[in-house]
Amino acid sequence: MVDRVFTNCEVRPLSGDDPASAVAVTDGTVTAVGDPDELLTAGAETVDCRGGVLLPGFVDAHTHLDIVGRRTVEADLAGADGPDNCIDRLLAADDGEGWVLGFGYDESDWDGELLQAATLDRVSTDRPVVAAREDIHTISVNHAALDTLDLPDDGVCTEDGAPTGVLVEEAAEAVFDAIAPDYTQTREYLLAAQEVALSKGITAVHDMVRQSHAPQVYRELDAKDALSLRVRLNYWADHLDAIRELGLVTNHGSDRVRTGAIKAYIDGSLGAGTARLRTPYADSDSAGEWRTDPDALRELVSAVDDAGLQFAAHAIGDAAIDALLSAIESVDAAGERHRVEHAEVLTGDLVERLAASPLVVSAQPNFHRWAAPGDLYDERLGERRGLTNRFRDLVDAGAQLAFGSDCMPLSPLYGVQQAVTAPEPSQRLTVGKALRAYTSGAAYAGFDEDRMGTVTPGSVADFAVLSASPWEVPNEKISDIDVTMTVSAGDIVFDSGG
Ligand SMILES: [Zn+2]
Repeated sequence: MVDRVFTNCEVRPLSGDDPASAVAVTDGTVTAVGDPDELLTAGAETVDCRGGVLLPGFVDAHTHLDIVGRRTVEADLAGADGPDNCIDRLLAADDGEGWVLGFGYDESDWDGELLQAATLDRVSTDRPVVAAREDIHTISVNHAALDTLDLPDDGVCTEDGAPTGVLVEEAAEAVFDAIAPDYTQTREYLLAAQEVALSKGITAVHDMVRQSHAPQVYRELDAKDALSLRVRLNYWADHLDAIRELGLVTNHGSDRVRTGAIKAYIDGSLGAGTARLRTPYADSDSAGEWRTDPDALRELVSAVDDAGLQFAAHAIGDAAIDALLSAIESVDAAGERHRVEHAEVLTGDLVERLAASPLVVSAQPNFHRWAAPGDLYDERLGERRGLTNRFRDLVDAGAQLAFGSDCMPLSPLYGVQQAVTAPEPSQRLTVGKALRAYTSGAAYAGFDEDRMGTVTPGSVADFAVLSASPWEVPNEKISDIDVTMTVSAGDIVFDSGG
């Protein structure tokens, strides 16, 4: 007995099977892919996909949904063109009580002056106002916040002895502690982020969680049938002891919420010049930093692996990726499906070693936006910019490639566009391969390849319906394609109405 038949669409299963024109769904699972005449049976409901292209729902292998939610609920200051514009946005987002929060301003978009307390007083003089800079290491606050907060001396910027309202380092961290969302706030953020994700055609995420209420919120929403996304929780390594104590292992959980990996930083970022390279940066004498040095890394990989957990290592520089590969090889974790997050600088033999290892490369095609001559990678790496994010080389060598957005921004179609328009042939994928990295590739990173990532009988009925075909629009227009419908377990969970 078929529940629903999705019709009036071009089905691209992304499984190697031919395109079709209808999908039959029963009990949230795909039962047949074919044409409507074949699939429509008495009693089945028809869902009109309005001539769209039906793909498997996107799986985003690297998200921070709390941050997306925060930017959705609070004032989003990204792209503001000056202090006045920031004030307008803060006022518009103000709900009239408690703190007024805004995130993501970048003073290089105007005259280069950071927001000051006197400016933010225009939002409120009696309630605390916080505006975080894009990099979140610098925070501006108003005078009411300066009065309310118990700030350390370190990091409070002053002028003629008086605080300017600009806070860095420890003082900035104290603000983040003070505005850390409680359970109810976290729930509001995650529900808002879920709406954003569904509107982008995302049906599953691998969410990075650390010292937050997010795991509890996801499980509560799941228990109440209020979760439309499927969520894998990748816990930071500082939770490892607790997770072992609880007996949580990778893949444990429900249909919607599962325990994923243990995540740790091996190095920093290229933007900050802290990703660990084999040879120094092009614009400094430094070769970056270890966040987890090779010895500690071996111990951590071994502990995580022994506990029956997947390891997800943030490794960006070539030295960091090298250290991870060596750790995986040395602790005999070579049979397990661990993952490397980002893997941006792939010099020398790293592509071959990654392909030969069982590591999944969980990468961000969005980062190609820094790859052109004169951009960030060029500045930091010089000629090595051509060795960044070598998706084509990785796929050709046989590596397991998963795509995720890191929420920069949360948008698979933006990532796909970047992957197919990258500056170097070694970085560029075909549309089909880029879409697969964002569906079956990401599903594989979460042990879900038999459950999702293709439109195949037996897989969950999670779909993204697009207004146009990514194979037919010009490559540089892919991110302009609208997601018109998102389906989870056969139910429509987002509908653009058009
Ligand atoms: Zn991240």
